[in-house]
Amino acid sequence: MRDTASPDASPLRLLPQVQRLMDSAEAATLVAAHGRAPVLKAVRDRLDDLRTRLRAGEADATAAAPAAILAAVAERLHGEAAPRLRRVINATGIVLHTNLGRAPLAAEAVAAVSEAATGYLNLEYDLEEGRRGSRTQGVTGLLCELTGAEAALVVNNNAAAVLLVLAALAVPGEAVVSRGELVEIGGSFRVPDVVAQSGARLVEVGTTNKTRISDYARAVGPDTRVLMKVHPSNYRIQGFTAAPERSELAALARAHGLVALEDLGSGSLIDLRSLGLPQEPTVQDSLAAGMDLVTCSGDKLLGGPQAGLILGRADLVARLKAHPLMRALRVDRMTLAALEATLKLYRDPERAVARIPALAMLAAPVAVLEDRAQRLRALLAGLPGLGAEVQSGTGFVGGGSLPGVELPTRVVALNTPTIESGDLARRLRRHRPAVVGRVKDGRLLLDLRTVADSELPEIAAACRAVLA
Ligand SMILES: *Cc1c(COP(=O)(O)O)cnc(C)c1O
Repeated sequence: MRDTASPDASPLRLLPQVQRLMDSAEAATLVAAHGRAPVLKAVRDRLDDLRTRLRAGEADATAAAPAAILAAVAERLHGEAAPRLRRVINATGIVLHTNLGRAPLAAEAVAAVSEAATGYLNLEYDLEEGRRGSRTQGVTGLLCELTGAEAALVVNNNAAAVLLVLAALAVPGEAVVSRGELVEIGGSFRVPDVVAQSGARLVEVGTTNKTRISDYARAVGPDTRVLMKVHPSNYRIQGFTAAPERSELAALARAHGLVALEDLGSGSLIDLRSLGLPQEPTVQDSLAAGMDLVTCSGDKLLGGPQAGLILGRADLVARLKAHPLMRALRVDRMTLAALEATLKLYRDPERAVARIPALAMLAAPVAVLEDRAQRLRALLAGLPGLGAEVQSGTGFVGGGSLPGVELPTRVVALNTPTIESGDLARRLRRHRPAVVGRVKDGRLLLDLRTVADSELPEIAAACRAVLA
């Protein structure tokens, strides 16, 4: 039985009533900003918490004062209202940083997303005919124009693209993959698992370092449906290696009525040598070599939104469109709008490099980065107790693209006598906008390849704030 006269019950009388708190002017302000239900819940939670702590003798009258309770409630609601997704200034130098959202969109793509998101649009409506139309026609037309593909299809991401192709074209039956290409991309995309998930049976051929066309040929049997080539993406096998030419794989597939599929991973539409990078097979290269279908990501080297592109033979694409998985993997209107605007820029490759942020960052010459680094150093020069020095450094493409390719860059190396570099890095990560760099040899390095000119004053302001 509850004994109201017991000594531990009395401190609870300090607590104000819920209604009294809700009737206050402070609560009215919070209700106007956040709505009544969240304020009521925060007040009740705070009172529950205080009740427990008063009983345990861990709180006193100060904490139970109405003003103190409402201040705590206001702080909680303020924290909850801030979006969890926050802007980050990427000073890692990794252009396609998967954890930071991969490719930032071109201004043209952002404008298209905004328009598509705001009102109604002809997403699946033919404005000429006044009846239902195709959802992806605008984008697929551009993809065919840019790559020479007969047909194209867009799905949620490249993982979805591979899954759909295998489910529609290799089931029931087998997909043949080289043991040198059974790759894992970022933990959740593993080629053997995706093949299994599609319902197809994986047939491994060759060895880790060498696979010949004769290995594929020996594996072809009555159940074979797809010969699959996978871009190793995030690793490179060097030395005593061999893989068949695409044209050999395509010819073998044709001879047996099979599908030659290539998962290109990053999937560039332009020759990367024009950016001063090593050559990578483009989508056009793969199709021209005779591959029946090619899949790639929209947000890696292409520099667009998250999407999976499927390009190639019209008869095969028609079968993919008719597959029941298609509905589950389809893209939304904002993705289509961003992709269309990004692809339009590729009509003029020079324009693409200038306007698509990922390409522009990859193409930025060291002289530009040096200039940007010197300007940041000058902005930081006035901050007391902060050492800032321009150094040469090395960046990476990221996103499982071009492994082992080092991008010469310039960094600003920060150090302070009072704050350890890991702590400085943490404080800058917590700032709004967050600034993310990397710690090396006791210094925090800010790589200027992935930083926009407009972000330099923001970095300086963040440093000033975290040093204060
Ligand atoms: C990145 C990658 C994928 C996964 O692409 P998402 O667009 O991230 O789903 C699949 N295959 C290869 C070879 C890749 O490089």
